[in-house]
Amino acid sequence: MDAPHVMADRSTDWHALADCVLDGHRITVEEGLDILRSPDVELLDLLAATYRIRRRYHGHKVHLYFLKNAKSGLCPEDCGYCSQSIISDAPIQRYALLNETKLMEGAARAVESQARTYCIVASGRGPSDREVGHIASTVKKIKDEYGLHICCCLGLLTPDQAQTLKAAGVDRINHNLNSSRGFYEKICSTHTYEDRINTLKTCRDAGLELCSGLIVGMGETDRDLVDVAFELRDLAVHSTPVNFLHAIDGTPLGDVRELTPRECLRALCLFRMANPQAELRVSGGREVNLRSMQAMSLYAANSMFVSDYLTTKGQPAEDDFKMVEDLGFEIIIGDHEAHQEWKARNGGAPTVASCETNGCGG
Ligand code: SF4
Repeated sequence: MDAPHVMADRSTDWHALADCVLDGHRITVEEGLDILRSPDVELLDLLAATYRIRRRYHGHKVHLYFLKNAKSGLCPEDCGYCSQSIISDAPIQRYALLNETKLMEGAARAVESQARTYCIVASGRGPSDREVGHIASTVKKIKDEYGLHICCCLGLLTPDQAQTLKAAGVDRINHNLNSSRGFYEKICSTHTYEDRINTLKTCRDAGLELCSGLIVGMGETDRDLVDVAFELRDLAVHSTPVNFLHAIDGTPLGDVRELTPRECLRALCLFRMANPQAELRVSGGREVNLRSMQAMSLYAANSMFVSDYLTTKGQPAEDDFKMVEDLGFEIIIGDHEAHQEWKARNGGAPTVASCETNGCGG
């Protein structure tokens, strides 16, 4: 991102822009850049205006996601930000696709963590048909036992693979664009932006919901962020995870500077304004980049991961629950009996709302 402005020579009426967005206005490139380049002194006004949009479409609800790294490392691709790539020396665990027992254990932990969505993530360019078959049969069991909403992130998919996953009960596919079309070749050379777009379209054709987002802070320009926001808007993705680069030693981006919390918040405001009805998830790198301002991210975003990320630690789940409670927001959990049993065992979940009533469409 470009250097943050300390003061601007003009002031934007962020509430007027929010009014327009609530009336159906699609923000322009200039407005997107204005959001990212707005001065620190306007941050609260910008966030308050963005919150009005969040509140219209998502109320005070927070949708929690639980990640399971189902296959780690061993990836032949060269994505520069990723600790699991072939060019990474990062000291991570490397293992093949987990067996059914381990994936079911992950589902149980997702319920314990009050997550409504269980994300099964496998490293690699794309899965083999055998791997897709294994995940499909396991997802059927997870659905029966826990009723979790299931999102799979498995790399590039063929139409047959997407249909197999849909038939097994997978609700959604995550496949991040990660950055703009123009910047993409600077972070990956082993597959193209178009490959990623094609997988998203293939999954949509198979009837799967689309989850696609990005990583902020890889050296891209403000215009790159606006471009990817508009690309995701045009794809009408259901859900956008906004990650903030957590630079990992041993990866090509290991020494990229950290973002400021204010830059992160402005980026979230951009993605909410650009695609107001989509679920917006404050994602990886939340703790290290937003630091003491994590809670403020939920005035723009309406979901987050609970517990750990793929190869990095998140803050303890209890801290996430406390943050939501302190904001006066509510965690959405499912209506499946596994969730009800969890509530009964724990004397009722702290502040939860049924997914039937949240209007999230998820
Ligand atoms: S394809 Fe996925 S797992 Fe492989 S290097 Fe890229 S981001 Fe990492």
